[in-house]
Amino acid sequence: MTRPRHQTTDRVRNALIVLNRDLRDCRACHMAGLLDEVESVPIALDPEPDAAAPRILLVGQAPGLRATITDRPFAGAAGEKLRAWFEQGGIPRDDFWRAIHFAAVTRCYPGRLPGAKGDRVPSPREQALCRPWLDELFEIVRPRVVLLVGLLAIRTFLGPVKSLTAVVGTATDRDGVLYIPLPHPSGVSRWLNEPANVAAVAQAMRILKSETAKLD
Ligand code: SF4
Repeated sequence: MTRPRHQTTDRVRNALIVLNRDLRDCRACHMAGLLDEVESVPIALDPEPDAAAPRILLVGQAPGLRATITDRPFAGAAGEKLRAWFEQGGIPRDDFWRAIHFAAVTRCYPGRLPGAKGDRVPSPREQALCRPWLDELFEIVRPRVVLLVGLLAIRTFLGPVKSLTAVVGTATDRDGVLYIPLPHPSGVSRWLNEPANVAAVAQAMRILKSETAKLD
């Protein structure tokens, strides 16, 4: 097992634990009539005891159904694919939970999209209600690298991006923070069936690897 070289400072760890405790109590979307009470269960992962300084932050769309059972994002097959990608990006599988801090545009499971295989995209109102949690997390973590997983996360930070194809394999530096767009690793994503798109993900991992080397 590879040990991270920088341990999370007590300041960051304690601030994250307090933030996560408050976040787990959030029922703002339920109070606004946007989620029912059962759905309104925020997923927040406290830092591992020997976590690396979490200067890499991953922002996804919203937790999936499995996360509501495991209380941990990316615990299933999609997470396994992400671990394989990130290994190419310089983050060993054993460090997956220690080297990255996980967040999302909204932190509660939004439910299925009626008549479709995927989950519902959280509404602009839900996104706005949840944004302060994300902003506070950024203030605590002060990430150097932000992995944007899926179009909602990408558009939240990079604006009206036309498609995954337009951005995966690129990186955007804003105020010293490097944003790396990625597709969602889910098996339902047909985008990943195209060899050119697989090559774009590999390029994104080369960028991540070069950044993780600088973080060491
Ligand atoms: S999605 Fe965000 S704002 Fe809405 S209830 Fe969950 S944690 Fe609160």
